[in-house]
Amino acid sequence: MHGLSLASDLVEKALKTLEDYHVREIRKIEVEVGELAGISPGELQSGFSIAASGTPLRDAELSIKIKKARIRCHNCGYNGPIESGKHPHLHVSPRCPGCHGFGIEILEGGGVTLRNLDVELE
Ligand SMILES: [Zn+2]
Repeated sequence: MHGLSLASDLVEKALKTLEDYHVREIRKIEVEVGELAGISPGELQSGFSIAASGTPLRDAELSIKIKKARIRCHNCGYNGPIESGKHPHLHVSPRCPGCHGFGIEILEGGGVTLRNLDVELE
């Protein structure tokens, strides 16, 4: 469900970006998925297939890049990347690599960002 709502937001954002243009075809939609977005690229991809069906985005290719996360720790002041595990996107509650505390703030890589749209104009 999470994947679908994130994908719906993405589709909505892309269509809104394009509403002022006469677009013939949307070839590709490029997004960044943060390590701490709480979603895997696979989940986003399948959510996108559902969310994009029946919209002008239905034939567009979804290109996903992983964005490294950066955090700040309120406890020890650590500021930097998280410890990258084997499946970084599965970090549900990331910890500080310095003090292993949970009192962190996500500075980057906490969501899904629309990076680029490859379209053909009329
Ligand atoms: Zn810390």
